[in-house]
Amino acid sequence: ALKDHVALLNDSLAAPTSKTVPLWINGDWHDGTSAAPMPCIDPTLGAPLVDVATAGTEEIAAAVKAAEVAQLAWWAMDGQDRARILRRIADGIRQHARALGSLDTLDAGRPIRDTVPRDTERAARIFEFFAGTTDRLRGAAVPVQPGRSNTIEYEPIGLVGAITPWNYPLTNAAGKIAPALATGNAVILKPAEESPLSALMLAWVAHQAGLPAGMLNVLNGTGASVGAELVAHPAIGKISFTGSTSVGRLIGARAGTALKSVTLELGGKTGFLVFADADLETAADALVFSAFNNAGQTCTAGSRLLVEASVADRFLALVAARIAALRIGDPLDPDTQIGPVISSRHLAEILRRLSEAEGSGLTSLDLPAHDLPDQGYFLQPTVYTGVDPANAIAQDEIFGPVLSVTTFHGDDAALAIANGTPYGLATTVWTTDLNRARRFSREAQSGIVWINTAHSLHPGSPYGGYKQSGLGVEMGQEAIQQHMRIKTIWIEDGKWVS
Ligand code: NAD
Repeated sequence: ALKDHVALLNDSLAAPTSKTVPLWINGDWHDGTSAAPMPCIDPTLGAPLVDVATAGTEEIAAAVKAAEVAQLAWWAMDGQDRARILRRIADGIRQHARALGSLDTLDAGRPIRDTVPRDTERAARIFEFFAGTTDRLRGAAVPVQPGRSNTIEYEPIGLVGAITPWNYPLTNAAGKIAPALATGNAVILKPAEESPLSALMLAWVAHQAGLPAGMLNVLNGTGASVGAELVAHPAIGKISFTGSTSVGRLIGARAGTALKSVTLELGGKTGFLVFADADLETAADALVFSAFNNAGQTCTAGSRLLVEASVADRFLALVAARIAALRIGDPLDPDTQIGPVISSRHLAEILRRLSEAEGSGLTSLDLPAHDLPDQGYFLQPTVYTGVDPANAIAQDEIFGPVLSVTTFHGDDAALAIANGTPYGLATTVWTTDLNRARRFSREAQSGIVWINTAHSLHPGSPYGGYKQSGLGVEMGQEAIQQHMRIKTIWIEDGKWVS
């Protein structure tokens, strides 16, 4: 089966002669001769999948040059023509959904039931949403002194450097490319080292759909080399980054020094609050999805359960039964719900966290062991109960199938614990009390609040974090301004008077 998928990859990339997966620069495949290829590992088997070309200084220069030329012509087009191309990209994603989604399953270990068509459809809809904005970009007129006019016009920043993580490779890439293109910018994308494949195919799909050469370039390589060079490059006016808080802070500081604009989508430690009056069965379904889907490698994973003491035992029994029923295994199997974690390094880091938690005296919920594959980076789900909110397991983003459980008495205590981490990406609240729902929506210190739901997303709804979870938003109308510059134009009607 693996061989079939590598063949599929080669077909998809239309690069049958090369054993090394190439780069995509200026509307064509490029071997990347100025830096050594890197291996791409299959986390399901823990074995090399393919070698991937990486970009060196020459390829970065070529991509920047191509993007600069293409961007001028792209912005000179009628917005409706840009919209038509973005819609065609959405159609292309649907047409190639199986191949695109399979690539994320192969290199990121994300189950195929989640990648096709869930992720591919989401990626297509992101392009469709932003296609709807290209001919609605508007400036404004400001009423200034009589005899003068003052208008505000929006212009593209020019070149956007997009840097993405490995957990949702296709949808993260789409979320950065679509708003940048819609606002007239060209994109240079650096995917995560672990998951370089679907972005290349997306670039090819976009090219087939009519996106002019140079408008989207995909440069693989490490963060420390290609990523850092994009951040430092004087021709790149904006960095759109999704990843860890530590790298985000570094990028923010460097971009600040270079005075370029940044959007930072960073880590999280979502509190999942369950009150005694909630629909416990539905809340348990949502929690198990939220905490363990994608093997817990989701920035908004509900990795901290805060449950009202009076229903804690009942609720945990519901949760335990659902965890026991999870199907963990080969992500290419359509029945599999949970695949491997991304890498041997990440697996070792999660295991280190688990032994630290046990060393600090935490006890884990007794769960039946799942039958895990012998190879690959698979982990049993772990639930720690009676966790002090200050414990590292309840404070730090573990990014694995690990849930901490803390019980609370009363709304004030629940709110304090929910807000008591350095992160502020999302808060999830399960209650049927309207006043409580209103209060928690107001007082939660997070960019997203989900009431009686979890992980609801829509391309029209802005997405971003408070505190250490980020800066700026992606998605929605609000993402438009973050990809544009403001220009104010004054015109004197008569004779100039100081
Ligand atoms: P990471 O920060 O290690 O890497 C992310 C990207 O940054 C990769 O492409 C990497 O190569 C690049 N990078 C690394 N060092 C760099 C540098 N010095 N300069 C420029 N680029 C550099 O994150 P990861 O481990 O790939 O992803 C997991 C993290 O992403 C988690 O913290 C998760 O919460 C976060 N995440 C956030 C969101 C969100 O929207 N808030 C969404 C998904 C993931």
